[in-house]
Amino acid sequence: MKTAEIRRRWLDYFEANGHVVVPSASVISSDPSILFNIAGMVQFIPYLSGREPAPFPRATSVQKCVRTGDIEEVGKTTRHGTFFQMNGNFSFGDYFKEDAIRFAWELLTTPESAGGLGFEPDRLWATVHAEDAETIDLWLKNTAIPAERIQTRGNEDNFWHTGQPGPGGYCSEIYYDRGPAYGAEGGPIADEDRYIEIWNLVFMEFELSAVRSKVDFDIKGELPAKNIDTGMGLERVAFLKQGVENMYEIDEVYPVIAAASELSGRRYGADEGDDVRMRVVADHVRSALIIIGDGVRPANEGRGYILRRLLRRAVRAMRLLGVTEPVMPVLLPVSMDAMKASYPELETDFDRISRIAYAEERAFLRTLESGTELLTRAVEQVGRGGTIGGDIAFALHDTHGFPIDMTLEMAAEQGVEVDETGFTELMAEQRRRAKEDAKAKKGSLQADLSAYSALLDEGATEFVGYDNLTADSRIR
Ligand code: ATP
Ligand code: MG
Ligand code: MG
Ligand code: MG
Repeated sequence: MKTAEIRRRWLDYFEANGHVVVPSASVISSDPSILFNIAGMVQFIPYLSGREPAPFPRATSVQKCVRTGDIEEVGKTTRHGTFFQMNGNFSFGDYFKEDAIRFAWELLTTPESAGGLGFEPDRLWATVHAEDAETIDLWLKNTAIPAERIQTRGNEDNFWHTGQPGPGGYCSEIYYDRGPAYGAEGGPIADEDRYIEIWNLVFMEFELSAVRSKVDFDIKGELPAKNIDTGMGLERVAFLKQGVENMYEIDEVYPVIAAASELSGRRYGADEGDDVRMRVVADHVRSALIIIGDGVRPANEGRGYILRRLLRRAVRAMRLLGVTEPVMPVLLPVSMDAMKASYPELETDFDRISRIAYAEERAFLRTLESGTELLTRAVEQVGRGGTIGGDIAFALHDTHGFPIDMTLEMAAEQGVEVDETGFTELMAEQRRRAKEDAKAKKGSLQADLSAYSALLDEGATEFVGYDNLTADSRIR
């Protein structure tokens, strides 16, 4: 089943069940405290928080998401993309747990011939919060899932809140068992590589009076209007339905792997290191395509910097595969072709998008050579096990356009460390100078770290983690 078909079945199903189909919001978050949308619910925050009355009681969407916090996982796990699509269904004070569970089970297990997603019921598992007995009962009562395939977890995994006093609640997640070839028995608690998380059902039912950490908070009482927020990973369902090994091998992503393999002359599936690089390339090229499509341009800070890192990491991964000439003119059209069924605007806007990506690659290739030389000399000087000075990392960043994570990665490949503290200090100093210059012109735009900064649990935290070296540049 093609990814576009899964998306269509999803929207049809929830529309038939009274949900208004809402188009994806831009991948650029309208909340200034996060750079990119990291979940389907972000565009509905005003309704979920009660700040604005919802114009409809039920909604569904397929949201374009970017989680840069997952960048280190890309290509190494089977299931993390920097870009992915989150299918969601939402209830604003309308239906609650029982229907959310019923809908999920019905859509997942209805045979393909009858319009569903056709998952074998006995391969599905659920996780539930240990104190949420109500949800366990609802699973047992409304679905064919047996008690042995329901596992309980604590706050770390099965409680959602924003990190602030306000709404919170239990969640229940659905996993698919890929079978004994992929790991030991024991359910998702034992092995998340064999048991793949596909869908998170969040029940916003409590008002929290204090939040001290992810796992430590006080529940004040129940919310007057209870909401449902769910997120299903479209690529994850696609990879399971398409019978491939991971989300990078689905119809919307794999063509770029095939193109990278052809360009480099290396066979996908022959060497694990090369395979990871090809998956990274396919992921990053697609993310860059979508991000530029939504209006971001490469820059030295904020969203533009993330875009720059994605493009440069892809180019460098191709270098490691032995390709030194420009790769974007080959790979980007392939990604666009694979994505245009769901996002036709990528094709009509491709001239603009591709010009930006190609120019960025050209700029990078101009400095990559000289930067690599500088780094190689520094590595030779300190020797294996040594530490390269922060000034080198800074020069690589400033003059040669090397994102710091790339420098770290390249150094690590040679068994050398980098003085990150020194680098961070030099960056801070440069920023201070830039700020002073800017002050003369105009007060800098101070982003408001609003109530939802810690929102959406890991998504947001992971994001900050990824960018911690340049934490204060992310919102400028
Ligand atoms: P994981 O534990 O696998 O990292 P998560 O718990 O962080 O996932 P949620 O925040 O619950 O994910 O998001 C809802 C759904 O979105 C997940 O169940 C999954 O199907 C999908 N999803 C989350 N992160 C990614 C990603 N980086 N790439 C692809 N799909 C994702
Ligand atoms: Mg998870
Ligand atoms: Mg989850
Ligand atoms: Mg995650």
